[in-house]
Amino acid sequence: MTNAELNELKKRYVANGAASPATQFADRAENALIWDADGNRIIDFAGGIGVLNIGHRHPKVVEAVKAQLDRVMHTCQTVMPYEGYVKVAEKLSQITPVRGHAKVMLANSGAEALENAVKIARAATGKSNVICFDGGYHGRTFMTMAMNGKVAPYATDFGPMPGNVFRAPYPVPYHGVSEDEALRGLRMALKTDANPRDTAAIVLEPVLGEGGFYPAPASFLKAVREICDEHGMLMIVDEVQSGFGRTGKMFAIEHSGVEPDLITMAKSMAAGMPISAVVGTDTHMDASGGNSLGGTYTGSPVSCAAVLAVLEVFEEENILAKSQALGEKLGKRFEKWQKAFDCVDNGRHLGAMAAIDLVSDKAKHTPDADLAAALCKRAREKGLVLLSCGLWGNTIRFLMPVTIEDEVLEEGLDIVEASLKELVGQPATA
Ligand code: PMP
Repeated sequence: MTNAELNELKKRYVANGAASPATQFADRAENALIWDADGNRIIDFAGGIGVLNIGHRHPKVVEAVKAQLDRVMHTCQTVMPYEGYVKVAEKLSQITPVRGHAKVMLANSGAEALENAVKIARAATGKSNVICFDGGYHGRTFMTMAMNGKVAPYATDFGPMPGNVFRAPYPVPYHGVSEDEALRGLRMALKTDANPRDTAAIVLEPVLGEGGFYPAPASFLKAVREICDEHGMLMIVDEVQSGFGRTGKMFAIEHSGVEPDLITMAKSMAAGMPISAVVGTDTHMDASGGNSLGGTYTGSPVSCAAVLAVLEVFEEENILAKSQALGEKLGKRFEKWQKAFDCVDNGRHLGAMAAIDLVSDKAKHTPDADLAAALCKRAREKGLVLLSCGLWGNTIRFLMPVTIEDEVLEEGLDIVEASLKELVGQPATA
């Protein structure tokens, strides 16, 4: 079917809130390229929103999934366990930097992992409150909507939200929130709203994802760890977007040397198959006992086969080094853009978790969300999928596969540059 025909079906049958605003339908994909239903070639700088760190349809993952389909597709692991689940648990336990010996539970999506992390923290501490952060994003289930540090468009009209969720400021010095202020805000939240006696956990992303690709300083993460220890609260680190190699380490928290109690992960762990995990210190993970953590499809054999293949690809293709190298290439291009364009500011990257901010006044860091939206639109017209994000809507994030070929990377970056030139006028120095 053509894009036009598919758009007609979408309009008629797909609920508004679930329908993509994009009009090109993906028909086929390979590494960093997608071909749409009309045969147009598109460069993918979104990577399925951080799912495709090793690219679309990595041959090794495809092969592992096909082989698993020929053996067992489903049993429900609480009814009849299978090898993939325990092997994934073993591997994740070995690579995840939590305190002590790690145990694992698998789920289907990032939000579901966060839901389970909160259940585990409550069972482990006997307390109920959770503290989350401005600009944080954790999902679209009720608990995670309550935990998000941004209401629209996720929670608008869907309330009431669950209680026992409190919020503290995330350190983003570029937007006027210093590390000291953020810590003061966190201590204040514990003094005023979320009594530590009743607080089970502090949940945070080591690099804000949807909130704008702002990394928390290592000293802030260390302070959060100390505050958790002081009050018998768990530190839960959400690595759904920053994990699995995006930042040049397997998990972004490794840059700080901090060992949290629980880590949530999803997205790139299976290169496109649905699966997520909570990995945490065994005593916490065992606190809930029995079969209460799971569901019909959690840790499906097919997704587990994909995870095991992804981990092999990381070893064989040196993905962490590639992520680091990609980040450096992006950083160089950002520097050039910052010099050339008045509207480009704050180029940053932790490994390949890379972004720029678009501004109407560089000295004042005034966000220009309209320009960010226009840039993404113009790029899409030129055959590039580009994503904005951030509390202020003016961050352009770069989530292309780490395995992207150099020529395709340059071609995509040239499209961003040409689109910017068209939108703001030809800069003198570019
Ligand atoms: N946590 C973070 C940090 C995320 O970036 C996301 C998804 N963007 C989620 C949780 C939710 O994941 P999912 O969409 O798979 O539920």
